[in-house]
Amino acid sequence: MALSEFELINRFFTRQAVKQDLTVLGIGDDCALLAPPPESELAVTTDTLVEGAHFLPDTCPRDIGHKALAVNLSDLAAMGARPMWASLALTLPTADEAWLSGFAEGFLALAGRCSVELIGGNVSKGPLTITVQALGSTVAGTALRRSGATAGDRIYVTGLLGQGGLGLKMILGETGIDDGDALDHLYRPVPRVEVGLQLIGLASACIDVSDGLAADLGHVLVASQVGATLRWDDIPLSVAIRHYVQITGDWMFPLQAGDDYELCFTVPPSAEHTLQQRMAGLNCRYACIGRIEERGGLRLEKDGAMRELAMTGYRHFN
Ligand SMILES: [Mg+2]
Repeated sequence: MALSEFELINRFFTRQAVKQDLTVLGIGDDCALLAPPPESELAVTTDTLVEGAHFLPDTCPRDIGHKALAVNLSDLAAMGARPMWASLALTLPTADEAWLSGFAEGFLALAGRCSVELIGGNVSKGPLTITVQALGSTVAGTALRRSGATAGDRIYVTGLLGQGGLGLKMILGETGIDDGDALDHLYRPVPRVEVGLQLIGLASACIDVSDGLAADLGHVLVASQVGATLRWDDIPLSVAIRHYVQITGDWMFPLQAGDDYELCFTVPPSAEHTLQQRMAGLNCRYACIGRIEERGGLRLEKDGAMRELAMTGYRHFN
C-alpha cells in the first residue's frame, strides 16, 4: 500500500465533527480511553459487511461507509442506548484513496448526525471487509431487551417492511418494479436511534429488524417465552411492495426480507397513550401489527384465515 496505515487513518478519519466529553483519549494511541457516564451501562455491538455478501462490488463507497455504521447504530437503537463511540476495522484490497475518501465521508456524516465519535481504527490488506464496533450508554438497568414481552402486549413496528428487500431485488434484476425509496432504504438505512431512546421505560421488549420481521420477532417470542398473532391488514407496506406482493403472490416477502433496520417492539396496553405522546414529536411512522399471546409460535391473520408462520428470515449459512 502506498500510504501507511497511520497515514490512511490520519488523512481520512480524523476529520470528524464529534468529540464526546467522556473520551479521555481518542484515535492515535494503542487504545482509546473512555470514561462511561456515571450510573450507566455500556451497550456494545459489532457487525461486519463483506463485499459480495452484504453489498455488491460496484456499491458507492459513501453508501458502504454509511451502512457499516448504520447497522451497528440500529443495534444500539434496539437496546434504547444512546450512541457514543465507534471503532472501525477496514480490510482493503488496495489503498484506493478515492474509495477511502468516499467511505469516510459516508461514515463520518452519519456519525456526525448521531453524535458518534470514531475512537479507533485498523487497516489491513485483503478482500474488502468492514467491521465496526459501536458503543452506547444506557441508564443502568433500563436497557430494552428481547425478553420482556408478556401476553396482552401490543406489537409495533416502525417504518415500512420489505423496503431493503425490494431494493435488493431491484439491483439484482429480480423484479421489474422501480422504486427509489426502496433503493434509498437499502443503501442508506436510517437507524431508529431517537425511537429507541423514547421507548425506555415504555417498551417491554425491542429488537431491530435486520433479518426480516418473522425471524426477528421470533427472537423476541423465544426470549420472552410467548407467542404472537399478527394482522396482515396492519402490516405497513409501501405502494411498491403491495404491488410486488400482488403480482408475485409472495406475501411472505415483506415479512422475511432482510435489511429493513426498523424497530419491532412490544408495549403493554396501559402504556399505549404514553407511546403516542412520545412518538408524536419524532416524525417516524409506526404501526400496531398484532399482539403477544401466551400460546407459543407466530401466527398471521390474513383474508379471514389464521396461518402459522415460520420464524425464519435471511440466514447467512443457508
Ligand atoms: Mg439486531
